[in-house]
Amino acid sequence: MKIICIGRNYANHAKELNNPLPEKPVFFLKPETSLLQRNKPFYYPEFSNDIHYETELVFKISRNRSYIQEKFASKYYSEVALGIDFTARDIQKECKAKGLPWEIAKGFDNSAPISEFIPLDSLKNKDAIEFHLEKNGEKVQIGISTDMIFSIDKVISYVSQFITLKMGDIIYTGTPEGVGPVKIGDRLTGFIEDREMFNFLVK
Ligand code: MG
Repeated sequence: MKIICIGRNYANHAKELNNPLPEKPVFFLKPETSLLQRNKPFYYPEFSNDIHYETELVFKISRNRSYIQEKFASKYYSEVALGIDFTARDIQKECKAKGLPWEIAKGFDNSAPISEFIPLDSLKNKDAIEFHLEKNGEKVQIGISTDMIFSIDKVISYVSQFITLKMGDIIYTGTPEGVGPVKIGDRLTGFIEDREMFNFLVK
């Protein structure tokens, strides 16, 4: 399976990192070994001093296909989860300055905590999905899917022109504003609507 991640998909987050707004979706991949499931703790890696959380809605692909038209994209997913796209911001800054790829800052082991998937049909409003992150009980990120620059349907259509999507692939759809650092001892709790999706410790 593949983990596809969209960058700069919320205008206010692109601004907070001084990035221009993209004209097309920006995407990168994380390896399967980046997944961290079942509320297992995240162990702070020794190679970074500035790991940031980025809270993101994650969609799971349910059928194999390339070249999916946007108008048919909704037939290719039916479940959503909440995930964190952990980013070694210090390493990413070095990569950006040198024009190098981001994988070392984004694809390391356990850099993609993820909740269970739930059916979109179980949500109160699947067309405007509200989510938020609490760090040690304090709300630090709030998002809603309608603020995405590129909707999940647009993302699926765009990515599938280049990469065949297969059943079980997952797509992290980008983070709203409010990203920030974690430290050892922090507890991260994520919600979709009022449902607790994950709850884990940084160790
Ligand atoms: Mg991200």
